[in-house]
Amino acid sequence: MAACIFCKIIKGEIPSMKIFESDKVFAFLDIGPLSKGHSLIIPKHHGAKLTEIPDEQLSEILPVAKRIAKALDCPDYNVLQNNGRIAHQVVDHVHFHVIPKPNETEGLGISWPTREANKDELAKLLDEIKAKF
Ligand code: 5GP
Ligand code: ZN
Repeated sequence: MAACIFCKIIKGEIPSMKIFESDKVFAFLDIGPLSKGHSLIIPKHHGAKLTEIPDEQLSEILPVAKRIAKALDCPDYNVLQNNGRIAHQVVDHVHFHVIPKPNETEGLGISWPTREANKDELAKLLDEIKAKF
């Protein structure tokens, strides 16, 4: 946590292009944007993955993402939150990306390799998830 780059940004130990700050969240421009206006929203509570952040620390994230998306004035955009290296997480402090998609080439590129689901397998999976939910 002491070495966390985003905790340092929150504390002002590392400079950032701050968009908004409250007692729970901090929002700033991404230093390596996928498109113009690519922004990050982070909870002030340190945690690597979404499941580590208390609910009350998450309550402002989506409203702030929505405000940023409106301010960016780009009709198409992605909201993204990566958890774990294989899921493309590089910084281990939870962060939500707002990424404008101004055209086919800029912004987030997504591979979406779908397959048809087996209905019996889906029903079994649903039972397993609901048992733990
Ligand atoms: P991830 O792949 O972990 O979901 O995304 C991490 C994001 O943080 C990347 O888009 C990267 O450009 C951004 N980032 C990493 N270090 C810094 C930094 O020091 N300042 C800012 N503003 N963004 C950063
Ligand atoms: Zn942190």
